[in-house]
Amino acid sequence: MRFLPVFLDLQTGPVLLVGAGDLARAKLRLLAAAGARVRWYATDGHHDLDGLDATDAARIECAEGDPLAADLRGVIAILCAGAGDIGPAMSARAKAVGLPVNVMDDLTHSTFIFPAIVDRGDVVVAVGTGGASPVVARRVRERIEAMLPARIGDLATFIGRWRKSIHGRIPEFPLRRRFWERVVDGPIGALVLAGRGDEAEAALRDISDPSAFAGASVSGQAEGRVTLVGAGPGDPDLLTIKALRALQDADVVFYDELVSSEILDRARRDASRVPVGRRVGKPGIGQDAINKLMIEAAKSGQRAVRLKGGDSFVFGRGGEEVEALRKAGVAYSVVPGITAGLGAAAQFEVPLTFRREALRITFLTAHKAKDADVVDWSALTDVKMTVVVYMGMTAAPSVRAGLLAAGRSPQTPVGVFARVTRPDAQAAVGTLDELPALVEKIDGGPAILIIGDVVAHSAPWRYQNLNQVISKMLEAAE
Ligand code: SAH
Repeated sequence: MRFLPVFLDLQTGPVLLVGAGDLARAKLRLLAAAGARVRWYATDGHHDLDGLDATDAARIECAEGDPLAADLRGVIAILCAGAGDIGPAMSARAKAVGLPVNVMDDLTHSTFIFPAIVDRGDVVVAVGTGGASPVVARRVRERIEAMLPARIGDLATFIGRWRKSIHGRIPEFPLRRRFWERVVDGPIGALVLAGRGDEAEAALRDISDPSAFAGASVSGQAEGRVTLVGAGPGDPDLLTIKALRALQDADVVFYDELVSSEILDRARRDASRVPVGRRVGKPGIGQDAINKLMIEAAKSGQRAVRLKGGDSFVFGRGGEEVEALRKAGVAYSVVPGITAGLGAAAQFEVPLTFRREALRITFLTAHKAKDADVVDWSALTDVKMTVVVYMGMTAAPSVRAGLLAAGRSPQTPVGVFARVTRPDAQAAVGTLDELPALVEKIDGGPAILIIGDVVAHSAPWRYQNLNQVISKMLEAAE
């Protein structure tokens, strides 16, 4: 991010506009719509205010003379649009006195740039691409336009009117935030969005105890809770809508090593982020300490999110955490995530079940060779069963040995799928016999092993076969 979006108060002084033609007029319209006072130097000497209504036109001062000699006192920003060579010269002047300046379509001479704007009254969304592509910015804008309720601006205005009085009645900040969340997310917000502002007004006025409405506990503080959130295998777009909401509402996020930074970025900006996971080879703070942190956070009225890779209940110790929360009498809920095995299956097109061919799935973990030793491999010899192995990279030789000894065919298709749904995802496919060698081909974990005939339907398998056919044809041709 090179340009930070900020919102400029245009009531505080005039904006200097230098330029001519349609480009200058387009900027004039934008500034007028925002209620700006504008001092306009028309570089072609032609001040044309056609198309502006009288109030807007009244705020535009048509300046004469050389803009390079203009008095800059009190000016809050300088804009050059269709100003030709005067643009860079104005930019130099502005920079010399520290005034923000934009020269249209000229990034090197601009210290600020204009975003694409969604304008819904008090709700304004600015979309920027750092000047790289206005077309991309416009497309993003279109999507946001389509997504936002038409009266979202009215909702902000409505709340703005009540803000002060509610502030007086709920002095505690966290509780006040909950109050407004309940208004926005509940029936009162819905009334405003439906254009029934009077009813919304009445409903808000009828709230006799705003703290209770905000869900305060008896002690008067905000009600704390813990949400166990499955973050999925890595791609932030695979977060569920509920997961996103929990992250957006969080006061604190306790996250595991497997959670990608792109996902953490989706948490509320002011939420504190606490790493609690262990890395391979390095101990974490331990399960008891994690439980304690979550319980303390909830008891102090915070909304804590426990964020884990994949799904919390698939080799994620979510069960133990839920037990600890129950025992502590803390309110909690669980939001499922896409487990790594399903992420791998979707990305690499491994149908985990297949009509008549694969009728059962087993998810197992083989963290260490000794885990693999305790697995009852004889239960996994059914050729119609797909076996999905978590934490199985180092134990791959034991997995192979166990399955072969139990009688599963060495020709059984297997796949090693690493860093699935992330930009650097990788796959290696082959036979059970080759499993340890396939793991060697992988540049690093985390990785999932999938064992079963279904792997022969996967995209990498087909691709590999195709390559073999092509090289055979080439050999024959030589
Ligand atoms: N709760 C997690 C699993 C945690 S155990 C889930 O539901 O996915 C950690 C193991 O998950 C890793 O050793 C690896 O086998 C697997 N894993 C997690 N993220 C992965 C990813 N992006 N790609 C491949 N495997 C992954």
